Amino acid sequence: MTTQYLDLFSRLTEGSDGGKREFLEIGRLAGQFPAASVSGVEDTSRISVWCSNDYLGMGQHPAVLEAMKEAVDEYGAGAGGSRNIGGTNHCHVTLEKELSALHGKDDALLFTSGYTANDGALSVIAGRMEGCVVFSDALNHASIIDGLRHSGAQKRIFRHNDTAHLEELLAAADPDAPKLIVTESVYSMNGDIAPLAEIADIAERHGAMTFLDEVHAVGMYGPQGAGIAAREGLADRFTVIMGTLAKGFGTNGGYIVGPAEVIEAVRMFSRSFIFTTAMPPAVAAAALAAVRHLRSSEAERERLWANAQLMHRLLKERRIPFISDLTHIVSVLVRNEALCKRMSTALLERHGIYVQAINAPSVRAGEEILRVAPGAVHSTSEVEMFVKALDQVWEELGGPREEVGIRLR
Ligand code: PMP
Repeated sequence: MTTQYLDLFSRLTEGSDGGKREFLEIGRLAGQFPAASVSGVEDTSRISVWCSNDYLGMGQHPAVLEAMKEAVDEYGAGAGGSRNIGGTNHCHVTLEKELSALHGKDDALLFTSGYTANDGALSVIAGRMEGCVVFSDALNHASIIDGLRHSGAQKRIFRHNDTAHLEELLAAADPDAPKLIVTESVYSMNGDIAPLAEIADIAERHGAMTFLDEVHAVGMYGPQGAGIAAREGLADRFTVIMGTLAKGFGTNGGYIVGPAEVIEAVRMFSRSFIFTTAMPPAVAAAALAAVRHLRSSEAERERLWANAQLMHRLLKERRIPFISDLTHIVSVLVRNEALCKRMSTALLERHGIYVQAINAPSVRAGEEILRVAPGAVHSTSEVEMFVKALDQVWEELGGPREEVGIRLR
């Protein structure tokens, strides 16, 4: 009876490569990672993962696991309600205090993910300022785009990291309108960094409020892992800083920190905060342990950065192009959807290396990448082996040899 509907959905999901999407089920994230099943791979016990966002290995850290287990015993498996209706636990409140202290801001607010943090916070901040005009970087994440859509505010897009364009758009806007500039610090798909000092200056000149997504920076950069703005001494020039607990901190959830007035308004009006069950207390406890550990330990950041720099150097020597050498996100530029997928498959089937091919809509069509994330858990020899394997596959499949430093706009 409903076949015509099913046909419709079937057509909808026919990928550009004509194939059904398969998830690769990974076992553990550290060391060698047994995968449950991978078509074309016989021995799945020796697959190593090079595209995990658990950049520092905190999802496996004993202190984090211990905190989570203890909290499960103490508080159970779930929160039992939304934050406002019975779902707030001591772990949530303690974590919020820790996060506001980490960033040196008045207050913090937790969300169940970074996605809902951006969506919920931006829809309130941009939506509740009458006549607000938002200035948003062209490569901002989908969650930012959705939050701004939900706000209903007018939006101007500036070219990626192009401060002259940002300034031009601000100058053309009504000087009396409230203004909000939204950027990321480390860009998730390019691995480059926004010119934060210039953006803060521009915001000041035009009386704009600022919202900074530090999802790919918190834990990894800055004093105590407070992010890029903190590293550059700019944290107090960004009104709201947003982060995730799911990448550097290895667990799950998102947050914003900022002035008490803003946080309180988001707490009162944000739909993605109000109308959903709070994160399990045990997740908050695990995240708290990760944040505390990374505030006092440099070891993970040092290992991550040593591995990232080694990978940058080895790729440059082989003239395998990648977008930016400023961070641990090494986006190897393939720029061809089919070739990118073939490379990913060859790495998996022949070398036991899992690195996901990234296609549209995560990147623009024609800018396909292998988004490589060397982590703190990889050893030096693993990084060397990875680049050697990539180099072989690159040669066999005819990948382009170019210089590093291509900046996409
Ligand atoms: N912002 C950016 C820049 C991201 O890359 C992501 C996730 N990849 C998010 C927000 C959402 O974070 P989360 O995964 O915690 O939902």
